[in-house]
Amino acid sequence: MILSRSSTVVLAAAMVAAGLLGAPASAEPGPVPANPDRGSPGTRDSSTREFGNGAERNEVAATGADRGISAFELPRAQPRRWAPARQGYPRQTELPLPPENPADKSIKLGLVPYHGIAPRLNALQEESDRVSAEIIGHSALGRDLYLVTVTAPETPPESAQQDRWRALIENDPRAAGGDPWMRRHYKAPLWINANIHGDEWEGADGALRVIERLATAEDAATARLLSRTRIYVTVTNNPDGRVAGTRANGAGFDINRDHATNSQPESRAVRDVVIGTQPFVMLDEHGYTGTTLIEPATPPHGQNYEYDLYIKHALPNAEGMEAAIRKLGYPETARADIPFRDYAPGDWDDWPPIFTPMYAMYHGAVGHTVEIPWQVNRNAYETLPVEELRRRSAVNTDVAAATIEATITYADTNRAALLADQIEQFRRGWAGEPSPFIPDGFVEGFGPEDRYSTTFPRAYVIPVGAAQRSPAAAARLVDHLVAHDIRVTRARRAFVLAGRAYPAGSYLVDMRQPKRGLANVLLEAGRDISALVPQMYDISGWSHRLLWGASVDISATAAPRVATTEVSVASPVGGVDAPAGRNLSLSLRDGADVRAVNALLDAGVPVRRTDAATAVVPAAARDKAAIVAERFGVRFTTAPRGSAGTPLRKPVIAAAASADELFALREMGFEVRPVSTTLLNAGADLSGVDTLVVSSGLSYGQLNAGARAAVDDVLARGGVVTRGGTGAAFNAAAGLLPATAVAGRGDANGVVAVRNAGSVVGTGSLPHSFVYSPLWFTGTGFTVEQRYEADPLVAGHWRPVAAGVGGPEQAAGQAAVISGMTARGGRAVLFGTEPLFRAHPKGLYAQFARALYWAAG
Ligand SMILES: [Zn+2]
Repeated sequence: MILSRSSTVVLAAAMVAAGLLGAPASAEPGPVPANPDRGSPGTRDSSTREFGNGAERNEVAATGADRGISAFELPRAQPRRWAPARQGYPRQTELPLPPENPADKSIKLGLVPYHGIAPRLNALQEESDRVSAEIIGHSALGRDLYLVTVTAPETPPESAQQDRWRALIENDPRAAGGDPWMRRHYKAPLWINANIHGDEWEGADGALRVIERLATAEDAATARLLSRTRIYVTVTNNPDGRVAGTRANGAGFDINRDHATNSQPESRAVRDVVIGTQPFVMLDEHGYTGTTLIEPATPPHGQNYEYDLYIKHALPNAEGMEAAIRKLGYPETARADIPFRDYAPGDWDDWPPIFTPMYAMYHGAVGHTVEIPWQVNRNAYETLPVEELRRRSAVNTDVAAATIEATITYADTNRAALLADQIEQFRRGWAGEPSPFIPDGFVEGFGPEDRYSTTFPRAYVIPVGAAQRSPAAAARLVDHLVAHDIRVTRARRAFVLAGRAYPAGSYLVDMRQPKRGLANVLLEAGRDISALVPQMYDISGWSHRLLWGASVDISATAAPRVATTEVSVASPVGGVDAPAGRNLSLSLRDGADVRAVNALLDAGVPVRRTDAATAVVPAAARDKAAIVAERFGVRFTTAPRGSAGTPLRKPVIAAAASADELFALREMGFEVRPVSTTLLNAGADLSGVDTLVVSSGLSYGQLNAGARAAVDDVLARGGVVTRGGTGAAFNAAAGLLPATAVAGRGDANGVVAVRNAGSVVGTGSLPHSFVYSPLWFTGTGFTVEQRYEADPLVAGHWRPVAAGVGGPEQAAGQAAVISGMTARGGRAVLFGTEPLFRAHPKGLYAQFARALYWAAG
């Protein structure tokens, strides 16, 4: 199901089509592995870069049947804050042993299969009082996620003291900085995250080797080190992928794109680890880039970092890791690529908070992605002799271990400065100080191109009451912020801020807080960086404020002056605001509203609709409405008298879609049958299907006669909802709506401003949307639901393909989403935007759902 995210051929074709690549790249075999994790190594020529997973996701349909946790279900899981207190160390857990799996893809490489990790950790705990293993969560397919802590034994009071100090650094950095006892005795926390991409295996093996050495070494230096250091290792952050040999987890998600969204259990688990351990330094071990690649990254640098505090350690630590791999003596480890030092701006940036190290930086860590050199996955895995694969994996394991050892050494040598700088990061946040100007040459190579900064607002307000567009979305946002360790308070009484009046109960994010950078990177609009760098590695725009569906106000300079209460979970918002005996109305503005309607339909309630955006629930179903209102946080109002409407049916959906879209549809409570060209040609059943979703891996022209007849039958009696280039091609080939799709640049992405018009998708929708490989529609004979605004790009990176082609200027004012009756008698909605992208823009979900209900007739 993730083949689309790893197929070089498909990718190269997509890039050629997008005008980004002159000739297809060859991946294997070759002396230097290509097809790297985040980009091509050792070259300043960006034309062979592999884009993360955007445009190519339209090529192969996902088949996953997994159902994850819905973001719309209440109570939302509270952060299971992993907290090292009270028990002391070691805290040894006998890990349950997974069944032996001879098909585990690690085995061919001579590496530890997933089922072999728990026995090794159990044996180490038996042997050494320096090793503690715990289960901190479960993968999408239910496998245990392990956290190993390596440190000298601590009594429970000693652990509690460490815990208090960790909290003091964040909560009262001035006091922490003035505590010489603490500065001497606080154990430096380090965190190694391995194998987040399942088919980049050896970080886990290298980490296990380091754990074993530290556990069993008898020298005095190691004992001293462990008396003043805690080393935390999440041994494999993606056991599903490790076993299956896939980059993604079992739900088809790239965990190293999920940290701002946390749709997946693997990213939630490490979020809680980074909050609970507050590491000074962290490594995220990846592969494979030919030359070992070690961050710090190229510009653009995230504008919310305290970048001076980061780069002063990140660069020397990277150079220390480079020296360590050089000492290994392999010809291929003679040097590393350090993007900050060696690459051109935009080749390997640290802009979005979706990557583990970038996310960790906002929690006070000096974060590094490390890419070990030799490719052993994908083509190489299938085609190289086993001995060569094992030789490569052995080198890779040595490299991973060497980078971890070098980082331990750096942190031990520089512990005082790392502690002082973490304290300083949080102090600046509390004090509301501007981030300092960083002069040229601050570290070698630092120049104007590296200088990014922002002006932090004084506060964000998430209003309740009439000013709140969606109480469900507001509660979801509050819970999300709190889970990320952002401080949110609730006003005890009404107040005025920046000229606006707010009722009691409104939420405040006072930006004088330790993790203001994280608060801002989630809530700010972002920035149009198209002019600053020629291209970007992955997404360049996101915004929980603009895309998650809640109204959020900004106070640029005025401080909130109102008594508040700290928030650990948003207050309940669901309810029924209608007199007994009256029909109830629910406006479908948010995914939560859709989830509630689908729950009522599942319960057999005869829901009707008066227009595409309004569901009506009969008065007799009031009790059931009250239950779903509480469960999903939605509010029913009184339906106008005489609003009979038409029956609203839950559509039977067949979807040729990407994994994230399947996940998002299921989050809203839709039942979806995955289909694709291949599955349909093999006879997949479309009987009873009301609506076909086409966004990935379905080509009308490639259907055989039987499959085409089945699809034609759906097109004649039901509906189609498409997204992106694959969907638009399907529309054209099947002769549905008379629209011409025009593609923007393939790697363009970001938050766009839109104008809503049509009643199916447009009415009441947010004035912003998200695009990746944006598309627009020209022609007549359809209804425009949504248009790009005159200056569409709010935040992100979108350049024209060539002068006057495929850029935001060409998209300006054009149709982004259209609907209409098809020539075949059914209904169709075509999206040029990405309302379900990576399960992130929760505030856009309802647009897709409304299209599904309407298209089903
Ligand atoms: Zn990777």
